Amino acid sequence: MARPTARRSRQHLLIATASAVTFFATISGCVAMATEDAGTGTGTPGTGRSGDDGKGRPGASSPAAPGTAGSTPPARVSAEISHESEDPGKTVNLTIDDGPEPGWTVKVLDLLKKYDAKATFCIIGSRAQEYPDLVKKVAAAGHRLCDHSVDHNTAMDKRPESYQERQVLDARAMIEKAAGPGARVLYYRAPGGAFTPYSREVAASHGMRPLGWSVDTHDWRNPGVGHIVDAVKTGMKEGPVVLFHDGGGNRGQTVAALEQLLPWFKEQGYTFGYPKI
Ligand SMILES: [Zn+2]
Repeated sequence: MARPTARRSRQHLLIATASAVTFFATISGCVAMATEDAGTGTGTPGTGRSGDDGKGRPGASSPAAPGTAGSTPPARVSAEISHESEDPGKTVNLTIDDGPEPGWTVKVLDLLKKYDAKATFCIIGSRAQEYPDLVKKVAAAGHRLCDHSVDHNTAMDKRPESYQERQVLDARAMIEKAAGPGARVLYYRAPGGAFTPYSREVAASHGMRPLGWSVDTHDWRNPGVGHIVDAVKTGMKEGPVVLFHDGGGNRGQTVAALEQLLPWFKEQGYTFGYPKI
């Protein structure tokens, strides 16, 4: 019986080798294509499309319901980067990054209220610690919260896993503390698109869905109100998740663009929703 055993062992070895090759190809592909966020840092602006979508990763594609507020730990969610809306139909998912920012966050909140619109705020942990009252206002208005790391280090994908874990989990704790009892952070968006398979896994295992986007307005560069408006109107065919910023500098153009775009969305029959968890 030696020969069949030997053959089986060889087959196992071949399978293991093939799996390892596939695994490493997947990992290097993820890292190479992870630059996604325009952000406010040094990250290369991406197309708004994510290559780091976790395809082929075992266990990465089993979405679970988000945890409910309370003391129970949040349920695990998918580690794939979300680009779609949780609502079917014609919907837009506004995402507002890099705040809170005194002066601008409240202006954005006022506009969203005026047009009865909802958004997801991707909050920098250290800024949440600095301006907890603004985070409370965001949460109290019913908008969703997204973890945007502690320090917005757009090169965090090059740092050790222990650093990545702290950036993700400490930011979540800072945001939840600032927002107040019952608040829950449902997403994680890497600064500068610096996702790694590891940071996505950390986020997902703590109930935060990695969040990408479909339409990049490049508003953080102050390209002109018309440019931001046009980027959205022509970009909506790419998908529902639109990237704006309330932090990172003077956001007057963003506010002016939203003043035009929020009624436009309504006229066009869009509803305001949230990215899929
Ligand atoms: Zn950012």
